[in-house]
Amino acid sequence: MTFCISENIDLQRFLTLAIPAKARFFCVVTCIDDIRQALEFTRARNLPLMVLGGGSNVVMRSDFAGLVMQIALRGIDVQAEVKEGAEIAADANVYVAAAAGESWQALVDFSLARGLWGLENLNLIPGTVGAAPIQNIGAYGVELDQVFYDLQALRVSDGELVVFSKSACEFSYRDSFFKRSKGEYIILSVRLCLASHGVAKLAYPGLLDNFDPSGLDQVLPMAVADRVAKLRRAKLPDPAVIPNAGSFFHNPIVDAKQEARLRAEHADLVSYLQADGRYKLAAAWLIDRAGLKGKVSEGVGMHAHQALVLINPGRCDGNQVLNFAHRIADQVEAMFGVRLVIEPQIYP
Ligand SMILES: Cc1cc2nc3c(=O)[nH]c(=O)nc-3n(C[C@H](O)[C@H](O)[C@H](O)COP(=O)(O)OP(=O)(O)OC[C@H]3O[C@@H](n4cnc5c(N)ncnc54)[C@H](O)[C@@H]3O)c2cc1C
Repeated sequence: MTFCISENIDLQRFLTLAIPAKARFFCVVTCIDDIRQALEFTRARNLPLMVLGGGSNVVMRSDFAGLVMQIALRGIDVQAEVKEGAEIAADANVYVAAAAGESWQALVDFSLARGLWGLENLNLIPGTVGAAPIQNIGAYGVELDQVFYDLQALRVSDGELVVFSKSACEFSYRDSFFKRSKGEYIILSVRLCLASHGVAKLAYPGLLDNFDPSGLDQVLPMAVADRVAKLRRAKLPDPAVIPNAGSFFHNPIVDAKQEARLRAEHADLVSYLQADGRYKLAAAWLIDRAGLKGKVSEGVGMHAHQALVLINPGRCDGNQVLNFAHRIADQVEAMFGVRLVIEPQIYP
């Protein structure tokens, strides 16, 4: 594909929230050379840059006055054996490398087709491979960092190619080094370490149902992925039908004292003890208990089946979406004293 930069491009069709917004300039990059040309273009005109993957985790507050660069680098590959001493699980033995523009689902399907363990719980998460490390995607009891090996990125300031090990990515719950240094690196490819033998991770509520407890050692990754798909389809609205960006708020993490105070007031509080002694609260429970599940106001709302998912059936603009989200966060804070933090990345 010949590299070109277009002007005044409507972004709405690229965003799962279907927010109407325009990019002053827009390009699709399929190789490193395209990226370098695009960066030269922004430098020469002193324009801001926005990197776009599948648009499933962004909110456009307004039009973007710079260059939106859509990542379309392709390729998925099984690579050589794992090095000794690598930061990976003991049973992991197969490297799989994928270019940033591959869809996450293509990578999951690739691994499942080869019977590999590691991505089955992360089935059906929208978006691209390159965006997955940004917020350390997670679902059904598994996070990307559990299978992550390293990634290659291009430093925007000087065009250098840099390899980030797992520890350099500083992964934590829906967070990474890249989320905190927004726009400084463009992720080009990601390497995961998967396993040809493994055990199903079924601790997440609902996953174990439908499996015979006496035959769990016979369960294959594909069966887990199917179960995850079923649960996700039952709970999450399809963005093509009802625009949304998945979970709109993080699950808040509070200290033990605050958790105890909340539990004293709400015996059925949903919270999970973390390794550091703090507690993760279920934001969906807080929203539901505040009476906001299913609440829709002027085209924006919280989904009736999954309280954490903000929906945009009215295809409202970014300000309307964010104002509604802030009102939800205000009401939850007034009731529980806990401030919900918005998960998607906001531009400009
Ligand atoms: C229905 C639905 C369900 C979802 N379920 C989950 C879930 O279960 N778990 C979960 O964790 N998330 C979930 N999400 C959120 C979303 O799918 C993930 O965050 C996904 O990784 C975003 O990928 P994307 O390609 O769409 O990124 P985009 O939305 O395009 O971008 C997100 C951010 O990443 C940056 N970025 C993208 N690509 C690159 C790159 N190559 N280099 C540098 N920066 C880059 C962008 O600049 C932006 O800041 C869900 C979303 C939807 C719509």
